[in-house]
Amino acid sequence: MSFNLATMLRQSRLSDPGKALCHFGDLTFSYAQVDEISGRVAASLRGLGLEPGDKVAVQLPNVPQFLFTYFGILKAGLVMVPLNPLLRAAEISYHLQDSDARLLVTFSGFAEEALKAASEVDGVATYLVTPPGETAVPEGARHYDELYRAEDTGDLEPTNADDTAVLLYTSGTTGRPKGAELTHFQLYMNCTVGGELFGFNPADVGIAVLPLFHVFGLSSVLNVAIRYGGTLVLVPRFEAGPVLDAIERHRATIFSGVPTMYFGLLREDLSNRDLSSLRVGISGGAAIPGETIREFEERVPGVVILEGYGLSETASTTTFNISAEQRKVLSIGKPLWGVEVRIVDEEDRPLPPGPEHVGEIVIRGHNVMKGYYKRPEATAEAFRGGWFHTGDLAYADEDGYLFIVDRKKDLIIRGGYNVYPREIEEVLYTHPSVDEAAVIGRPDEKFGEEVVAVVSAKAGTEVAEEEIIAYCRERLAAYKYPREIRLVPELPKGPTGKILKKELRTS
Ligand code: AMP
Repeated sequence: MSFNLATMLRQSRLSDPGKALCHFGDLTFSYAQVDEISGRVAASLRGLGLEPGDKVAVQLPNVPQFLFTYFGILKAGLVMVPLNPLLRAAEISYHLQDSDARLLVTFSGFAEEALKAASEVDGVATYLVTPPGETAVPEGARHYDELYRAEDTGDLEPTNADDTAVLLYTSGTTGRPKGAELTHFQLYMNCTVGGELFGFNPADVGIAVLPLFHVFGLSSVLNVAIRYGGTLVLVPRFEAGPVLDAIERHRATIFSGVPTMYFGLLREDLSNRDLSSLRVGISGGAAIPGETIREFEERVPGVVILEGYGLSETASTTTFNISAEQRKVLSIGKPLWGVEVRIVDEEDRPLPPGPEHVGEIVIRGHNVMKGYYKRPEATAEAFRGGWFHTGDLAYADEDGYLFIVDRKKDLIIRGGYNVYPREIEEVLYTHPSVDEAAVIGRPDEKFGEEVVAVVSAKAGTEVAEEEIIAYCRERLAAYKYPREIRLVPELPKGPTGKILKKELRTS
């Protein structure tokens, strides 16, 4: 079946071409403008010789060029590889190589790391978005404006519904980051079904402060708004004051965030703000405390906070609390239409409802990725018995609501950003004095979780905690490096010699 996700932009444009699609500072772009500009980007990318299925890495904060590039890529039948702008050179080059990216679009502020990375990977051209008025780019890079030069042909590549549209990096339950292959159809279904649940409509104005390079921002914020012809306010980074200003200025109706953003908003004085336009707050990515929901709804009357759950591998939403009347606080809600969820034991046998029956969440349905790019073994492991295994532990109640209890996998979520312990451990093991290392998360009031490295030193050597922190900081994105080092003589091990992280977490 021929289907291109970019049709949703075209359709919303046809119903109201002059409608504002996004605001960014004092700039506004209409549906017609975004459709036309992304058409130019598509034509330019085709003109560079990129063929359908080729990968384009996009490392941008929430700026209009993110949208132009995303839809340009989709229209040309290419595959978008979103990357976190905070990555350091070694991390970027890993992603470029692993995804077989042919082109990298990034921001001039990140040029140094990006160009270092691109120079290590053969044949990757780097295009830089610059602040308005700046035209110079460093040697080895090209200016993003070159991608506006070709004429918009209005063509959409006739991709198949199950062609990969986005390759989203996540580590899954173990190991280094892997590209989850999300198709045109999966992404379309997820925003269509997800947006309908909270009645997203053309009058809605959403705050897009969740990073668009992450599945929550990409699918549940950006795609939903465009699918239903709404307006977005692009905010490149979270700071409570400016976010509140944006809500007031644009009369925003929907705020989507991770719990730490709600904590941040609640630290502000809200009494002198006019937040009366807000109708829904969506929370996901990590568990939101019941107290936070209660306080937010009390201080911002008229808002209901609805919590959902999902993963990169599930094109965003899997379960959702659909309304004030039908939600259960502390629950992640019930499965989305067309999505099956089960709780299974270690042998993959379904468990009955009840808090005493905690097992792993497994998922089947239109939202589940095709697989991990070039990783047949990891894909087969994740899809045991035809169900996608999430690594999240939960139980269901008698009404089918799900409650997350713990994470089976190692993933740490710090301030809404995923930190994969394996990546940090690999850096720690390159330190000449480190004998063994394990990275865990510990609860943190501000960030939800904080990254902690438990380290033992090689015999005859000494290491200082600050020195290890500095070593990691130099090599890893700012949100990843451990803030706390615990030096121990030896790490606890199981019978197979495997480090027992569970023990470290409780010690
Ligand atoms: P990602 O692949 O970055 O989207 O991360 C997905 C992981 O985030 C899930 O496997 C969960 O561990 C966690 N997560 C997402 N939503 C929630 C939620 N509402 N409550 C608790 N954990 C969540």
